[in-house]
Amino acid sequence: MKNAGNKCINVKNRFREKPEKLFAPPQVVTEDNPCILGCNSGDTRLFSGCDLLHGLPGEYRVVCCNDCGLTRTNPRPAPESMSYYYPDDYGPYQGTIANPSWPMRVSSSAVRRLARRLLELNVQRLPVIPPANMLEIGCASGAFLQQMKHKGWRVFGIEYSQVASDNARAAGLDVYTGALEDAPDPGWPFDLIVGWMVLEHLHDPVAVLKKLGNWADKNAWLVLSVPNAGSADFTLFHRYGYALQLPNHLYHYTPKTLAKVLYAGGWRLEKVYHQRLLSNWFGGMGQMLYQKGYNNRVVAWMKNYPSQAGKLHYLFFPLSVVLAWFGQTGRMTVWARRISDD
Ligand SMILES: [Zn+2]
Repeated sequence: MKNAGNKCINVKNRFREKPEKLFAPPQVVTEDNPCILGCNSGDTRLFSGCDLLHGLPGEYRVVCCNDCGLTRTNPRPAPESMSYYYPDDYGPYQGTIANPSWPMRVSSSAVRRLARRLLELNVQRLPVIPPANMLEIGCASGAFLQQMKHKGWRVFGIEYSQVASDNARAAGLDVYTGALEDAPDPGWPFDLIVGWMVLEHLHDPVAVLKKLGNWADKNAWLVLSVPNAGSADFTLFHRYGYALQLPNHLYHYTPKTLAKVLYAGGWRLEKVYHQRLLSNWFGGMGQMLYQKGYNNRVVAWMKNYPSQAGKLHYLFFPLSVVLAWFGQTGRMTVWARRISDD
């Protein structure tokens, strides 16, 4: 018999045993979220948390599957209620998400290229392949698609937000508005599919991964970034964690559980790059201090670091590299390839 909880993230009992007051506002219908990998060994309760991004009401629980270790939000808002937690001012819709700062800007100088290589943040790290057809899932206002278009890619985007996708189309991009789960086949064989901080938001990531596999060329790369729940900031800051983002984040992956979900969706995890940023650490620490009643300039600076760091990422780069080496920056970018049918 398996040891209950043996694959689960190690969250101290003092969090697990805290009384919970789970609730959802009347506008939000919730649903049970059983382990998507089909396990039935029960779950370990980790902690509960609420929406700290917009301060919307609701308290949700994070659990870990005793069998496979996949951590998820359960219960969770049902798909038809999810829009409640995505107001039009939701951060990533504003078009600033695809701005990885100065060293990533296109430049032909060899010195600049070397600097980009040496100061790689791994935020949107891509395999080196010639421009062809690419799809971005959750393309927000299209900033990344635009960069890729300028590099010679034929680009297509899928975006849930009407406002954000309207912005992308106004910039001349080809974008489908709606949930990924409902999106029709764009009819292209994609050579590259990217999704920056999207997979953790999906109700059925396995079904979506299968769908993407059907749209992909057999040699296609799938490149995703997700928060890393295997990093110490996830347990240390628990409900105040910057990347926890309840209830928008429905799954909280580690490299191991992400590999399992990718495999179930027909993809093989090939590479994991831990992002070289301290956003989760400063953001989580700032939020935790703020929620505990500290409110000063240092706390405000930490809290705002993830959205305002800019060139500061390079000031803290050496420390980020060390943490990334140990897989402890709380965010990862992964490359996967389709598992062939034969
Ligand atoms: Zn499971």
